[in-house]
Amino acid sequence: MYKIIVILVLLLILYYMVRRAIRDWSDPGNSTKYLAKDTMVQDPICKVYVTAGSAITTTIENQTYYFCSHDCAKTFQENPPA
Ligand SMILES: [Zn+2]
Repeated sequence: MYKIIVILVLLLILYYMVRRAIRDWSDPGNSTKYLAKDTMVQDPICKVYVTAGSAITTTIENQTYYFCSHDCAKTFQENPPA
C-alpha cells in the first residue's frame, strides 16, 4: 500500500513538471525567445540585420541576442552589456 502512495506522488510531481514545461514552451510572454525564422533581427555588434532563422544566438540572463556570425557572438560574449 505504501509503495502505491509513493508512486502516485512521483507521478503527480512528474505531471506538474511536464505541465510547467509545456506552459513555459507555449507562453506568449516568452515570445522573444522564439522569434519566427523570417523575423529580421539586428546584430548588436556590427548593426547588420539578419533573419532570426539564420542568426547565431546567444542567451545571457534570459535575454536572447542574435548575431550575423560566430565572431560577433564571441565579441559580444567577451563584452556583454552592463
Ligand atoms: Zn555581426
